[in-house]
Amino acid sequence: MVVGAGVAGLLAACALHRDHAEVVVVERDPLRPGASAFRPGAPQGRHIHGLLIRGARVVETLLPGIREQMRCSGAPVFDMGLATVLCNRGERVGPYATGMELQLFSRRFFEDHLRRRVLELPGVRLMDGVTVNGLLPGASGRVAGVRTRHGPVPAELVVDAAGRSSRTGRWLREFGCQVPADELVDAGAAYATVWLDEPCELPAAGRIVYEFGQFADRGAGGGIALLEDDRPLLMLFGRAGNRPPTDPEGFTAFARDLDNPHLHRYAAAAKHLPVHRYAHMPNRRRPYERARDWPAGLLVAGDAMCVFNPVYGQGMTVAALQAETIARHAPALARDPAAAFAVQRELAARTRLPWLIATSLDSRWTGTPGARQRLIGAGLARMLDRCGDSRHLYTSFFRAQHLVAPLGLLHPGALWTLARPTGGDRHEHT
Ligand SMILES: Cc1cc2nc3c(=O)[nH]c(=O)nc-3n(C[C@H](O)[C@H](O)[C@H](O)COP(=O)(O)OP(=O)(O)OC[C@H]3O[C@@H](n4cnc5c(N)ncnc54)[C@H](O)[C@@H]3O)c2cc1C
Repeated sequence: MVVGAGVAGLLAACALHRDHAEVVVVERDPLRPGASAFRPGAPQGRHIHGLLIRGARVVETLLPGIREQMRCSGAPVFDMGLATVLCNRGERVGPYATGMELQLFSRRFFEDHLRRRVLELPGVRLMDGVTVNGLLPGASGRVAGVRTRHGPVPAELVVDAAGRSSRTGRWLREFGCQVPADELVDAGAAYATVWLDEPCELPAAGRIVYEFGQFADRGAGGGIALLEDDRPLLMLFGRAGNRPPTDPEGFTAFARDLDNPHLHRYAAAAKHLPVHRYAHMPNRRRPYERARDWPAGLLVAGDAMCVFNPVYGQGMTVAALQAETIARHAPALARDPAAAFAVQRELAARTRLPWLIATSLDSRWTGTPGARQRLIGAGLARMLDRCGDSRHLYTSFFRAQHLVAPLGLLHPGALWTLARPTGGDRHEHT
């Protein structure tokens, strides 16, 4: 059984289906096919949801052909270095051909495609409109299913993918399981998003304009993205309590202060449209891998175990990496639910690098940065600031950020560019 039909839950169901006769996905929101409203169980769906390139590759291995299906439904695939108009205070960085293929879509579009594909898999069933409100204890302290308002639902294995509102930490106390305190790194980040209602022409036939220039000093930035069917979305973000306002004047002024003419122009044109804000976005890890007396038959994945500041776009990719791990261990989990704790430790391991990247880059704004995090954060911020100086540094930086080849940042070519004075080999542009 999987609790939650978000990205993590759907991918976990996919990972388990081959080795379990039946996989039931229990979701509290009613999920009518074709329903168009944003659903209350995933309020973050109103905001941009970029799937990192590593995540897209893993999803494609779990559900072959899904990228092409989404392309045919209106989400083009493009070279991220050419179609991303990456700006440093309004001035374009690059472009460079990177060979890294990106696809942009709304979270709703992605989730709809995932859900359709996963529910077509043999043995996978959705129980929607049902809220899980506890874990069912079984023999020898194991988890034997879940409690719902409609009665208990037994299961050999329960995967909690209920997102950031997961209550497993509390429910585990009933099982005599002790979990160390959460790790929290809060940069005080906030998003504000407007879905534009007019077609949007981005410079250089770009599909995304992304401004990071204020990143270094104020922690603020923003972007415009053309999602499926060229649907434009404008988002602004800030850190350290520097929240983008939701009133039209404040929103436009915030965009103007980013010194990016595209963001300012479209923010000013969107004065009649509602601004949606998401304001509490700390990095938070629940260290289940260090729990004592973990019960057999339980896994926790996705945001239910680790949430990231979404500015780095890592959450769905981590969910995909964890699904990859669950798929690898699905036969062992089917044979012996007591294998769950060893798998839980591996799920935690998949969060380690993204956690290091997010908390290091955020360390400047958290008030309690560790020395290691501060050093890595300063190095990454410098690379971002200099990534326009050479194709090598640009590609290395984004291959790392997209979790494709993180160690490439230590390549001598990348380090050499960093060591030189600003300017670099801009003639390398494609
Ligand atoms: C503002 C914002 C922007 C983001 N942008 C990005 C981005 O650009 N890229 C990216 O990769 N990630 C992004 N994320 C993170 C991303 O949303 C998640 O990491 C990712 O969707 C995985 O979430 P999940 O499936 O674990 O949880 P969720 O998406 O929250 O899904 C949990 C599901 O469980 C259901 N549920 C909850 N409780 C119960 C219960 N008791 N019983 C039954 N069902 C229940 C909910 O209704 C929901 O459907 C963003 C997050 C935020 C807040």
